[in-house]
Amino acid sequence: MIKKFIKILVLYFGPWSLLRLIKRRKEGAGISILYGHRVLSDAIIADKNDPRRITGHTSVSEVEVAILELKKRFDIISMDEAVEQLSAQGVNRESVVLTFDDGFKDNFKFLLPILKKHKVPATYYINSSVIDSKKNLWFQSVINFFFAIEENVVKIDLSKKEYDLSSADKRYKAAFDFMQYLQANYKPDKFHEVIYSVAGDKALPDESDYHLSWDELKILNEESLITIGAHSYNHYPLAYCDEEQSKFEIEKSVKDLEEKLSIKIKHFSYPRGHVEDFNDWHIKVLKDLGISSAVTTIRGVNRKGQDLYQIKRVGFPQNISNDVEDFLWYVGGIPQLIASLRN
Ligand SMILES: [Zn+2]
Repeated sequence: MIKKFIKILVLYFGPWSLLRLIKRRKEGAGISILYGHRVLSDAIIADKNDPRRITGHTSVSEVEVAILELKKRFDIISMDEAVEQLSAQGVNRESVVLTFDDGFKDNFKFLLPILKKHKVPATYYINSSVIDSKKNLWFQSVINFFFAIEENVVKIDLSKKEYDLSSADKRYKAAFDFMQYLQANYKPDKFHEVIYSVAGDKALPDESDYHLSWDELKILNEESLITIGAHSYNHYPLAYCDEEQSKFEIEKSVKDLEEKLSIKIKHFSYPRGHVEDFNDWHIKVLKDLGISSAVTTIRGVNRKGQDLYQIKRVGFPQNISNDVEDFLWYVGGIPQLIASLRN
């Protein structure tokens, strides 16, 4: 309660503006880049046992709340504008870019109409291996499997482990544990083979959980508000790929999108995007392909002079309307601002 009061005070009555003013005078205005994944119906997000109710997935009405709140304080700009401002002219005004990773069908069905209604731009980062596919990306296949098991416990001979599946949280925990096992024991290009050998059809998604089709991507590409970027071919963590494999993962996604959509792909999002998930080799591959920006999941606000191949982002919270102040606090990069003033 006290924390919330302080946030309201800071956000609406001065110190926030003062803090940002100090920062702005020193380094210019900032661009916060939000990243989300699935945009689902409100009913799915409200159901505590639904496997799709994962951090990083949000609902139709929450996206709308976010857009309305952001519009009061920020310019919502495109990735092209952000890159231009960060690299050359400097950031004009406090701004936000909306980005959505992994290319789910709901980004077409639910998200596009909201973006059009409010006339706000967004970038969709696509993994081309699952476009037009009846399969999910490898880590989603693992989640599908652990949620499709009817029993409350499962023993998997391969990992020599028994997994407690007595609640949705425990099923997630089991899925993440199995992902760790895969990463520690197999090369990424074997992940799917191993998952399907253990899970069979249980790894397959429902039709409502498919990724976009090429036809939908072509329609999205025609929308002036939408920018299409690449997010690797299979969404393997690049840190676990050797140079040849990571080059393939990056190049294939860029080239598939360029060929099918007849466009130049300019923007990339590293799968997972933590600091250990990309290196100078990946940046060289991106530059050779003519990619002009790459986003991470390293938290923070971007200002003039930002390395365009290590762009910071902040995650899209699931429930914004519960605590709008917290959302603005987080999007405005105030935690990082306080940390930098302390140093
Ligand atoms: Zn992703």
